[in-house]
Amino acid sequence: MTVLDFKEIPEAHIASGLQDTFELFARDFLSFIGYKIVTDPDRGADGGADLIVQEKRTGVGGETVIRWLVSCKHKSHSGKSVSPTDETNIRDRVEAHGCDGFIGFYSTLPSTGLSANLEGLKGKLEYQVFDHKKIESQLVHSSRGLEICERYFPISIDAWKTNNPSPARIFAEAPSLICKVCSKELFDQDDHGVIQLWYKMSTKQENEKQHFEYVYWTCRGRCDDVLTQAIRGKRSDLIDGWEDISDVMMPTIFIKWVMSTMNEHRGGVTYSNEAFDNLKGFMLSVFPYVCRDLTEKEKEKVKNLGMIPAYMGGLGYES
Ligand SMILES: [Zn+2]
Repeated sequence: MTVLDFKEIPEAHIASGLQDTFELFARDFLSFIGYKIVTDPDRGADGGADLIVQEKRTGVGGETVIRWLVSCKHKSHSGKSVSPTDETNIRDRVEAHGCDGFIGFYSTLPSTGLSANLEGLKGKLEYQVFDHKKIESQLVHSSRGLEICERYFPISIDAWKTNNPSPARIFAEAPSLICKVCSKELFDQDDHGVIQLWYKMSTKQENEKQHFEYVYWTCRGRCDDVLTQAIRGKRSDLIDGWEDISDVMMPTIFIKWVMSTMNEHRGGVTYSNEAFDNLKGFMLSVFPYVCRDLTEKEKEKVKNLGMIPAYMGGLGYES
């Protein structure tokens, strides 16, 4: 999946006062991945070098410093690849600037012709190409990289964050839900497991109110079964209800869940002290995940879940 739309960075050679943005992005990116910036992008004639960066390599013979000439080509607005005519006399330019290697920093891809020219330089000088995919893959997997993205790709990163929600930082500690059976963190798993809500079987008495005895969360499958069997074994008077935790982590479902719990409470439904404490702890843990927009997938799911009435086993939040 492509996250970053490089068209967010203004085209070069347009006198908007922003013509250097792509070069500034190259500087910030290369510095982020560990290069030391020797000469900054500047607006004058560049003599074929947009930037010069340096790399320290430590080997058995001590430290070697490699100087890299960086050439930036921002062609994503035209969508064209970088061709040999865009990138002439590479070797001469590298030598003229006293560099040892060449870095192509491109918002599209090098053309086949340019790739062949670079290939031909093997053995004479080192080269590397950062194309849009390579740049993106380095950036979106770290928080410092994401900070750079926010500066240069604010629209792309907003859309990406909406669809890759991470918990909001609102409590001192990271949210946690530990499986009651195996003690694994449920938020670390792709499937966030289930929450079980055990309530007393009806004795068919008049004015009888529902009473919740236990609220627990586990991994789906085996842990869920183990706990269910254990509770059924000691309490034949209880019935279990359950919800998918990933459903409750959806903002719309979460708040409806809170509301229906409050309504039930007012209607006389009771909880054991432990069940009530657990329910509160659960809601607090899930809350950081729901302080956000719905993802595109969730928007669809909320629509579907809302259509299934409660008596049919749906979440039944319409009532
Ligand atoms: Zn488990």
